[in-house]
Amino acid sequence: MRYVSTRGQVPDLDFEGAMLAGLARDGGLYVPDEIPQMSEADIAALAGLPYEEVALRVMLPFTGMEEEHLKRLIAAAYAPFGHEARAPLVQLGPDHFLLELFHGPTLAFKDFAMQLIGQLFQDVMTRRGERITIVGATSGDTGSAAIEAFRGLDNVECFILFPHGRVSEVQRRQMTTASEENVHALALDGDFDDCQAAVKAMFNDHAFRDRVGLTAVNSINWARVLAQVVYYFSSAVALGAPSRKVSFTVPTGNFGDIFAGWIAKRMGLPVDRLVIATNRNDILHRTIATGEHRKEGVAPTISPSMDIQVSSNFERALFMAYGRDGQAVAQLMDELRDDGGFPVSQGALESLREDYDSGRASEEETAKTIREMHRLTGETLCPHSAVGVKVAREHGGHGPMITLATAHPAKFPDAVQAATGTRPDLPPRMADLFDRPERVTRIPNDIDALKTLIEDRLT
Ligand SMILES: *Cc1c(COP(=O)(O)O)cnc(C)c1O
Repeated sequence: MRYVSTRGQVPDLDFEGAMLAGLARDGGLYVPDEIPQMSEADIAALAGLPYEEVALRVMLPFTGMEEEHLKRLIAAAYAPFGHEARAPLVQLGPDHFLLELFHGPTLAFKDFAMQLIGQLFQDVMTRRGERITIVGATSGDTGSAAIEAFRGLDNVECFILFPHGRVSEVQRRQMTTASEENVHALALDGDFDDCQAAVKAMFNDHAFRDRVGLTAVNSINWARVLAQVVYYFSSAVALGAPSRKVSFTVPTGNFGDIFAGWIAKRMGLPVDRLVIATNRNDILHRTIATGEHRKEGVAPTISPSMDIQVSSNFERALFMAYGRDGQAVAQLMDELRDDGGFPVSQGALESLREDYDSGRASEEETAKTIREMHRLTGETLCPHSAVGVKVAREHGGHGPMITLATAHPAKFPDAVQAATGTRPDLPPRMADLFDRPERVTRIPNDIDALKTLIEDRLT
């Protein structure tokens, strides 16, 4: 399996190469040159299998790895999860289901990808006898998931940038309480887009990138998208696929999670609608609704992991919608950087609208949804999942709808308490989080200072 850049200016790579590179050297993102197909019989055969077995069957053709080998890494990745089903479904209404993706070690869906990536990187680096430096930007959940996946690994140094004061206390503590020397939590004076821009700038400095062995694990990494494809299959099959079509609503900011759903659909999973759900930082919803992809300021919300205006993975969707024209995508990305946005061509917009619907939830609507679902179903939603549920309820009526629940409510206790009056408890396995000492470095929004800090820490 070969991977090509969405900007078409660099040679293609195999799975391992694309995973280690993260961002391509032309600034693009790697996508599979061809999407492996699963037949109706292949999909039907997934029914009733353990999550790990579904993961093996869905991911194997993308990796070119030896089957037994990948199987062992998958087993190690998901063993720390706190639920035997890994991604259980809960019913919310007659035809509405919640896919609980928050039973991993840091209580958010990002554990699905990050736990696997930790195993994959450790495996490759041990075999090669090399060291790498992971640098990631996080709006909260990616960073904690990365730290959990990489802490204590011999051949990986892990730097995580998060926007100072803009992550929840649980998120912050999950990043700052790791005591391992190879973990560096950095609080940047800026918002998430500033963190993401800093990481991009480091990657575009090729000399620096080579000197420190820089590798990205944020949501642009293809291996992360791939790991997320699996639960679309496991959940759809549980509800009757391939003989029944299902739809998904995905609370999204960076477009990584929902793009994984698009891959599942292109592999042959009978997916009806893929619904993009945004909070008031609604660039993705506006793009689908109006055809204009344009940044506005980022407004903080109670669903901070989606407080994003630069939606990195949307580039992959554009690449597909523009008929895999890397040059066209490169031009759009230049316009986004220089002019703050661009109009999507008519053909590409039609193509996007064939696959995606969209909606948004205001702060009031999000809180109201948490309160209502608590009353109607007894389920406590995190604010991100509530954005999804609100939008899903506006897009029902086409058969089973699965809303992705992206985090555990206890990760965002203030917002949940404000809505329901009850403070959600952390699961017992992390009850001591508030007693552990914190270790964090505050840094200015200055790329040179950041590079110096990283090089200092590496020597
Ligand atoms: C990261 C995150 C999202 C958004 O996911 P994307 O892949 O960036 O679209 C939504 N909810 C939670 C809880 C998250 O951590």
